[in-house]
Amino acid sequence: MSQRSLKTIHNLIKSATEQLPIDKSFVADLKLSIEKQDQENVRIPSKSYKPSSMSCLRQMYFQIIGEEPSQERRDSCNIGITDIGSFRHEKIQEAIMDMRKYKMDCEYVDIAKFIKQRKIKNVEIKDKIGIETKLYLPDLNMSFMTDGIVKYKGQYYILEIKTETNHKFWDRKGVAENHIIQATSYSIAFNINQVLFLYECRDNTEKKCYLLEITEDMKHEVISKIEECDQYVNNLIVPPKPKNASNKFCQYCKYVSPCRKAGI
Ligand code: SF4
Repeated sequence: MSQRSLKTIHNLIKSATEQLPIDKSFVADLKLSIEKQDQENVRIPSKSYKPSSMSCLRQMYFQIIGEEPSQERRDSCNIGITDIGSFRHEKIQEAIMDMRKYKMDCEYVDIAKFIKQRKIKNVEIKDKIGIETKLYLPDLNMSFMTDGIVKYKGQYYILEIKTETNHKFWDRKGVAENHIIQATSYSIAFNINQVLFLYECRDNTEKKCYLLEITEDMKHEVISKIEECDQYVNNLIVPPKPKNASNKFCQYCKYVSPCRKAGI
């Protein structure tokens, strides 16, 4: 959707709210303000692979060629859900850091120090935002922020925190399929093969934790996927849509419009 049509929508909403009773008008204006704030912060993603968006080869392709993301407006509820997720991540990370203070055998590892100590050559530290560190792997053209690394009872683990709906949480029996590529990418970067997945229920903050073991085959699969995408990028050919593409699969994709235009 173009900036012009977004402006038209906002103008339509504005004139509609002017006709509303005061309470309805207030809440409509508040939602609009949240959405406008969000639009001011929209960033064009960098042309690098992102472990959290590697389930679809076509999505990876659009990311690397720098395709303009669809300009669909996030509504105030979705924005709020993301804010809650970020807030809960911070609270959980702070509690993990305090585990040491309460005499538990757990250390929240400083990523920069870990990379230096282990002499990891293929990972560049780009930035530190709050507790999290932004990293780049030049060999794979991959960038990401991790939730962290913990040393728990003498063993290093990659930590991945997920917040999710009540329904998803209570049905959960293990690590979600679409989270495995993400964890495998982190494992390639840090050479740690054990990942602790902490899932939190958005309704009552109940938690479930699963240990995922990353194998060399899983790492090869991720690297092959990147190499395959690189081939499509070099030839400027849009990869085919995955067979399992569906509304649910494409739910968080930023490239719905270009994907639709590219066809099957
Ligand atoms: S809309 Fe779906 S199929 Fe198309 S690029 Fe995005 S995730 Fe892939």
